[in-house]
Amino acid sequence: MLKQFDDIRPRAVVRCRSAEDVAEAVGFARSHGIRCVVRSGGHSFAGYSTGAGMVIDVSGLHRIEVAGDVVRAGAGAQLVDLYDATLRHSLAVPTGWCPTVALGGLALGGGIGLETRKHGFTVDHLLSATLVLADGRTVTCDEHRHPDLYWAVRGGGGGNFGIAVEFAFRPVPVGDLLDYRLTWPWEDATAVVDAWQRWAPDAPDDLASVINIGVEDAGGGSAPDLTVAGVWHGEPAAGERLLRELTDRVGREPASWSATVRDYRATIMDWFDCDGFTPAEAHLVGHNPAARIERYAFSVSRGGFFDSVVPAAGLKELLAAVTDRPFAGQRRDLNFIALGGAGNRVAPDATAFVHRGSRFYAGYSADMDPVVPEHGPQAARAWIDGAFGTLSRWWSGRSYQNFMDSRLADWRRAYYGENLARLQRVKQRYDAERFFDFPQAI
Ligand SMILES: Cc1cc2nc3c(=O)[nH]c(=O)nc-3n(C[C@H](O)[C@H](O)[C@H](O)COP(=O)(O)OP(=O)(O)OC[C@H]3O[C@@H](n4cnc5c(N)ncnc54)[C@H](O)[C@@H]3O)c2cc1C
Repeated sequence: MLKQFDDIRPRAVVRCRSAEDVAEAVGFARSHGIRCVVRSGGHSFAGYSTGAGMVIDVSGLHRIEVAGDVVRAGAGAQLVDLYDATLRHSLAVPTGWCPTVALGGLALGGGIGLETRKHGFTVDHLLSATLVLADGRTVTCDEHRHPDLYWAVRGGGGGNFGIAVEFAFRPVPVGDLLDYRLTWPWEDATAVVDAWQRWAPDAPDDLASVINIGVEDAGGGSAPDLTVAGVWHGEPAAGERLLRELTDRVGREPASWSATVRDYRATIMDWFDCDGFTPAEAHLVGHNPAARIERYAFSVSRGGFFDSVVPAAGLKELLAAVTDRPFAGQRRDLNFIALGGAGNRVAPDATAFVHRGSRFYAGYSADMDPVVPEHGPQAARAWIDGAFGTLSRWWSGRSYQNFMDSRLADWRRAYYGENLARLQRVKQRYDAERFFDFPQAI
């Protein structure tokens, strides 16, 4: 997905079509002493699905089958295809809002999206996973078979225990949604974020809500745009009342307000930024002849979970960081994702996904596309490190293992918290020789 990792030249890329292909690739790499990494959708923010050795690419394992109340999907299945297949049955597997992210990475590390507050994280719907292990065995783990591995793959993150080839999920029934979008001028930002952080995480589970603060060109001179957006899974009038509660708490009328009842498919395609695309078009260019989504030239992001309300002084600092160190040609965003709800009612040690007490996630990102200006990457990293320094005065110290951050100091604690020791024992049991390894491997 990110072109900034294109300079890394693997010795070989093995494109697999079956679990047997994967086992053969693992056996070959082992017997020749070649390091290997796995790739499904290629969306690792840190570039951990590529490397100088062998890339075992399982994007070809993308079969999806909906049978009654079980959805089986290959690790290479991308979110747009998963929604396309399940929505034909008025079902969805709670995942995320990027069409081309694949299950191989997302489902092992958590999975945050429009359904998280109502139904939980992707890992909470994982019934079983089939993996090719470092010794070449193919095993299926679930509640009864390899229960320690089953626990670990629900949040332990990609690239750690084996190569996932197939997952089984318990889907949820879905219907129409109230899709809403409210904007405020930048001068109201502190009031909006303050009201939102006290409102969204404690709202009924039917609410999904994010804030996007974005500035198209961070060269200075233009104020960031501020949008509160999301969906309401319940009865529309109740959703509208809840939005009114937010605007009352902000104490300032939004500059614009839209709240429309839409069917799930149209809504998710819009959230994918693929409004009007067919599922075939909602793929990265090169994935198929119809694909229309371009890869990012350069992107960097850093963020973390917040377990408590940030005081107004802290919010002002977080917001001021967006326009700090102006640099022309850089798009910047600060995103907040509301948590709470069903995802937080699972115990932190019930699965390896430990982040069950957070009110929201917040993260900065800088993108340059299609042109990366001279010194752009250095400037983006300097800016984001400064912004992250501000953020880390207020966060919980926890970070999302699906948003891997190669510059994070204490990443083990940040991704896994009190589940780390148990994850290390599972790693020892299934991959004692660390055949599966990368800079932030367990
Ligand atoms: C543009 C963008 C949007 C995103 N949106 C969301 C979102 O809405 N919600 C959300 O929760 N996350 C989101 N993410 C984060 C995403 O969940 C992670 O980056 C995830 O790891 C990507 O999985 P992948 O298979 O596409 O990526 P890859 O780069 O292929 O893999 C990511 C990691 O998992 C490992 N891995 C891949 N496949 C397998 C496998 N089959 N078995 C074992 N390990 C494997 C890789 O080695 C690598 O370490 C987004 C990321 C990007 C870049």
